[in-house]
Amino acid sequence: MSSYLKETPTRDGFFGDYGGAQLPPVLEPHFKAIAEAYDKISKSADYIRDLRYIRKHFQGRPTPVSHLKNLSEICGGAQIYAKREDLNHTGAHKLNHCMAEGLLAKHMGKTKLMAETGAGQHGVALATAAAYFGLECEIHMGEIDIAKEAPNVTRMKLLGAEVVPVGFGGRSLKEAVDSAFESYVPQADTALFAIGSVVGPHPFPKMVRDFQHIVGIEAREQFLEMTGDLPDMVAACVGGGSNAMGMFAGFIDDADVALYGVEPMGTSSKLGEHAATITFGEDGDIHGFRTMLLKDEAGEPAPVHTVASGLDYPGVGPEHAHLYRTGRANYTAANDKEALDAFYKLSRHEGIIPALESAHAVAFAMREAASNPGKSILINLSGRGDKDIDYVTETYGFSVDS
Ligand SMILES: *Cc1c(COP(=O)(O)O)cnc(C)c1O
Repeated sequence: MSSYLKETPTRDGFFGDYGGAQLPPVLEPHFKAIAEAYDKISKSADYIRDLRYIRKHFQGRPTPVSHLKNLSEICGGAQIYAKREDLNHTGAHKLNHCMAEGLLAKHMGKTKLMAETGAGQHGVALATAAAYFGLECEIHMGEIDIAKEAPNVTRMKLLGAEVVPVGFGGRSLKEAVDSAFESYVPQADTALFAIGSVVGPHPFPKMVRDFQHIVGIEAREQFLEMTGDLPDMVAACVGGGSNAMGMFAGFIDDADVALYGVEPMGTSSKLGEHAATITFGEDGDIHGFRTMLLKDEAGEPAPVHTVASGLDYPGVGPEHAHLYRTGRANYTAANDKEALDAFYKLSRHEGIIPALESAHAVAFAMREAASNPGKSILINLSGRGDKDIDYVTETYGFSVDS
């Protein structure tokens, strides 16, 4: 492993000033046990062999890197390439860490996987892992999201998960996290809480990064083989930041490769109308760790908006806050309109319908291509857009200009 990844985070889970674990005393021993089990298991030949087998024979890895020739030609300037996580089983990168967390649960002798979910993407990926490993699965989801994301609720139930509706407060992601943690406390001996991104208390930001690292490892090797060189720029959308961290980890020691996280600018730069945490946020604490945050006037996590519900989080993974402060990665934003334009163009010109989340990375590449002639841009296409086609076409029709 590279030197940066070996040294970061510290043993207690700090990426510079960010990360750590602020937990209620009842949960402290359980997170400690998870950290110790992960430490041990990640060096075990059995665990590594099992994970390799699953990635190849169940998930369909490696996913390819595609040269987006038509899009590059239209944008003019740089050549654009995409790592195709849309072709990973279940249609997004999330299964990479959910399968590894399921395997960890199995090795720890747990009988259940638990989590919160917002739009349902993490819930579906975790329910898939639970079905594969023969584990129970309990997913907490706000009532508003349950009504909005019916197909994902159906999927989770088909996969055998229990979906617990959350009916208090805003009845959305934040309340789902609170509800899931409350339910986890009395079950912590037999269940593993599987967080959906590189967020939450230590060891999750490190563990989920390590599980997503496969994306960057494959992409680096594939890009080198295709072009004989490394990409000049690597970009990914950032919600919690797991697909971006997986990709960045593969290139973090290549000082000449510029890294870009693309945040959702929503409908405007006004607080409440975007979810661009690093672009506009400040230091703070959320859900048991220190990071950068969008805060309201009272200092509480602010409401956020983006057309891509998977990017809808007022915090961000602590490692991104760290990479921003050290300057190793750059953070920028794309708004709803740019993401929709990218959604249509990638569909029409490349035959790939992207998730609206991933469309933010495509929008970045399209914007940068013109001003970077002769350069190469590799994006992480974190997921496919099947889940978004009804919403997009009912709201905007079949072209962003119509
Ligand atoms: C959930 C999701 C994201 C956002 O999560 P990160 O942890 O920021 O990667 C991005 N793309 C897709 C397709 C998703 O499902």
